[in-house]
Formats: sequence, C-alpha cells, structure tokens
Amino acid sequence: MLDAEIIDTLIRRARDARSFSYAPYSNFHVGAALLCIDGSIYSGCNVENAAYSPGNCAERTAVFKAVSEGHTKFKAIAIVGEGDVTPPCGVCRQVLREFVVPQDFQVILAGHGSAYKIKSLEELLPLSFGPDNLI
Ligand SMILES: [Zn+2]
Repeated sequence: MLDAEIIDTLIRRARDARSFSYAPYSNFHVGAALLCIDGSIYSGCNVENAAYSPGNCAERTAVFKAVSEGHTKFKAIAIVGEGDVTPPCGVCRQVLREFVVPQDFQVILAGHGSAYKIKSLEELLPLSFGPDNLI
C-alpha cells in the first residue's frame, strides 16, 4: 500500500503537470504523476492537437516518458483533471495494463480539494488483456 506522504507527493506532481496541459479545444486540463517501482516519478499532461486524434492523454504522456527513459515497472499513478474525479480513459487503462500487475497497481483519482479515491487497475479494467495472454 501507499503511504500518505507518497500519495500527497503524487497528487501535487499531477497538479503541477496539469498546469502545463495543452488543451485549447476541450479546455479539459489533466495532469498525471506515475510512480515507478524504484521510487522515481514521471509526470505528464494532456496534449491536444488541431487535428484532434493525434492528441495524447496525461496518463500516457507520463507512461511514455518513463518507458522512454528505461522505466517499465510501475506502482501507482495520480490523476488530476476537472472536478472531483477524472478517471483514466479506456486507452490509458490498457496502456497501463501493459506494465503493471492490475491487482497491485493503484490509481489515485484526485481533484482540486483534499479528497481522493484509490482504485486498483483491476477494479478499473477487469478481465483485462495483457502480455501474459500472449504466452
Ligand atoms: Zn486516456
């Protein structure tokens, strides 16, 4: 389980990343902070595009930053969007699934206040398809 200090740190880092969100079309600003097994943290924001589909979610930005620097084992992610809770989209759930044990990986859903919810990836993506299905 995650201790309160790391939860606070991840939420703060997600809020910081959210401030860089490039969302001129939706005005839906999201930040995420991904905790690696070794304790390092990678953050990301959503990046929209005038052609729409090339845009990327905050969660995947964080994952791709981490993977591109050699990190492929993750423990948790905090997500801060609009309102109280911004759950990850289906694509981001699947991308996270590639690198984590769904029962163990924690998704911290935070907003602008002090309240947050924690769900496992297993809860958010039950009966998921992952690398072990191909073996
Ligand atoms: Zn997404």
